[in-house]
Amino acid sequence: MQNILPVFRYLALISIVVGTAGSKPFSPAQPNILFIMTDDHAQQAISSYGSSLIRTPNIDRLAQEGALFENSFVTNSICAPSRAVLLTGKYSHLNGVRDNRDTFDGSQPTLPKLLQRAGYYTAIVGKWHLKTEPTGFDYWNILLGQGQYYNPRMAKMGDTLQYHGYSTTITTDLALEVLQNRPKDKPFCLLYQHKAPHRNFMPEPQYFSAWADEAIPLPATFYDDYKNRPAAEEADMRVADMYMGFDMKLMPEDYEGYPEGSGGNADFDVSGSWKNTIEGLSPGQRAEWDKHYNTVRREFREQQLTGKALAEWKFQRYIKDYLRCILSVDAQIGRVLNYLEEAGLAENTIVVYTSDQGFYLGEHGWYDKRFMYEQSLRTPLLIRYPEAIPAGSRIAAMALNLDLAPTLLDFAGAPIPESMQGRSMKPLLENGKARRWRKAIYYHYYEYPYGWHKVRPHYGIRTERYKLIHFYNEPAYWELYDLEKDPDELNNLYGQPGYEKRAGKLKLQLEALRKQYKDGK
Ligand code: CA
Repeated sequence: MQNILPVFRYLALISIVVGTAGSKPFSPAQPNILFIMTDDHAQQAISSYGSSLIRTPNIDRLAQEGALFENSFVTNSICAPSRAVLLTGKYSHLNGVRDNRDTFDGSQPTLPKLLQRAGYYTAIVGKWHLKTEPTGFDYWNILLGQGQYYNPRMAKMGDTLQYHGYSTTITTDLALEVLQNRPKDKPFCLLYQHKAPHRNFMPEPQYFSAWADEAIPLPATFYDDYKNRPAAEEADMRVADMYMGFDMKLMPEDYEGYPEGSGGNADFDVSGSWKNTIEGLSPGQRAEWDKHYNTVRREFREQQLTGKALAEWKFQRYIKDYLRCILSVDAQIGRVLNYLEEAGLAENTIVVYTSDQGFYLGEHGWYDKRFMYEQSLRTPLLIRYPEAIPAGSRIAAMALNLDLAPTLLDFAGAPIPESMQGRSMKPLLENGKARRWRKAIYYHYYEYPYGWHKVRPHYGIRTERYKLIHFYNEPAYWELYDLEKDPDELNNLYGQPGYEKRAGKLKLQLEALRKQYKDGK
């Protein structure tokens, strides 16, 4: 007892000193966190995920120097809900953001608040999209609403500011400012979040000419017939129906006699929105824009396309502008990674790269996300932390965006609240394996019939081989896929002879997950 007492006194002294500061002391063992999130960046558009479309050398560095998750998924494939999952580590039905109409309740426990309590300096720059003001951040400067590609308006700690320039660059400048000006006596957690490559995919002038003279191959499922998949057939997210103005960047006089395109939302003021956007460019920006897009417009007028030729022209226009936006993202991430090195922060900083979900790059004839099919269920996830994660790790275990908050808290040495439903991936990252890791994931999408794209609500289970989806609105029905035999998910096996037992087993597993995650529907 006598030996222990001095230690007690010593600890008591520390806790008094710390108590006055209101948080734990800075421990050199606490890593910094740079959390990079883009909007709608599909795995198919990252070279370390095997993309044949684009090279992304800076994002790839994170895979080479850290870990790439081969099977990372989201729990609800849409913007605001995914962001709320990240912050809370809870499914949408418990964090309160089921769809883009919902408002985030910032009073609940979140990753930044818990990190602050653990002694971190916390900041966010760029895309936020949760309607309420950010909570738990010592500094925030966020894009208003969806954010604009050019000359974005932002809210800095509550003050609205008008910026001039390109959003991806501005967001990066702000991130670098935070890193330079942060208090150096604390570890930091910076959420550095891009609007790009979200619709309407407006590239930066220096990338206008990328892929200009080549045709990008159509995905094999571009002309999907949606057989036995009524929800897929009903969805309004076909590339062929993209807006002529807002998406294709044509001017009204270019497409007289053509339909504007349903574009996913009949109520959207598409011509007004595009007019405002294009007129929001400065004279210099507009001159550069016109130099490139006037050629596109002239070619469209000359070609008089219809039918499949028009759909395929739209695909080329869409995919090229989408990829060009990613070239900016990758280059700007390179700036930040270089800064970490120059500032001596590369070793003790966890760098996460992810997107709020995946995206269709013409697969099933689509753009957008929402469905539990692979392209939008998956999201990129790369994590670099040289002090703990072996370089070049490829992790096959099924990861969820739900796991990110618990994982980062775990690395920070902060307690993970019971209410968080995700699991720390720290053991997976450090050792490549974790005891009793999940063999199936649970998914639930809600936004319907309001909002965009008419995707019926559904929940489902994905195991390593199978996927079972319940579209529960009347007329309710199920879909079942064997991902090994049918990776493109074209053949709905539900109700087909020979699959009754498989469907029954998956339904039981699905019910168990719904119970585990406390989802009544
Ligand atoms: Ca998104």
